[in-house]
Amino acid sequence: MRVVVATGNRGKLAELAVLLAPLGVEIAPQAAFGIVPPPETGTTFLENALIKARHAARIAGLPAIADDSGLEVDALEGAPGVHSARFAGEGAGDAANNAKLMASMQNVPIEKRSARYRAVIVLVRTTNDMSPLIGEGTWEGRIALAPRGLGGFGYDPLFEPGDIPGTAAELSPADKNARSHRGSALRALVAQWSR
Ligand code: IMP
Repeated sequence: MRVVVATGNRGKLAELAVLLAPLGVEIAPQAAFGIVPPPETGTTFLENALIKARHAARIAGLPAIADDSGLEVDALEGAPGVHSARFAGEGAGDAANNAKLMASMQNVPIEKRSARYRAVIVLVRTTNDMSPLIGEGTWEGRIALAPRGLGGFGYDPLFEPGDIPGTAAELSPADKNARSHRGSALRALVAQWSR
């Protein structure tokens, strides 16, 4: 089975490639089809994941997988949430987003820095698939006082998972995938796939 992965985010693509490898599914990034990501106009992770997957399936003429994910910080009332990729503005990179998060959390004490990553991953067989497979995952943790680590992507240098010491950027890819919101979401999706 060949599946197009509806993301241009290299960090996500690398993690999804490893997580999907055991299924023997051949994956192709949407860039290989010249697919330009659609505007993410949804207000939930699920809506945005479906928008991306249906768009890629329509253009590639293949089943498509999309992930929509983000960081929810309790002290910021759930922000950046669905806006995680563009927290510091449209087209902002990881460095600017992390700097904004650090600044927003400057006066928040350690016991009030709880946060979680959320991911929703969907698989549509065709663009009009009426029963897409949906997997959801969360990863609880807190926002560090200072960034640490060079692995992962996005907010990982600032995310301290509750289930293992260090930041997510200090974990090996295997340790991150075994615990992360994306790993959990994909395992939930795969459980339905093989049913
Ligand atoms: P999306 O492409 O709209 O789903 O953007 C997701 C954004 O959430 C990414 O650009 C990151 O900023 C953040 N994010 C999601 N998952 C992770 C992760 O595993 N590590 C770090 N940041 C993440």
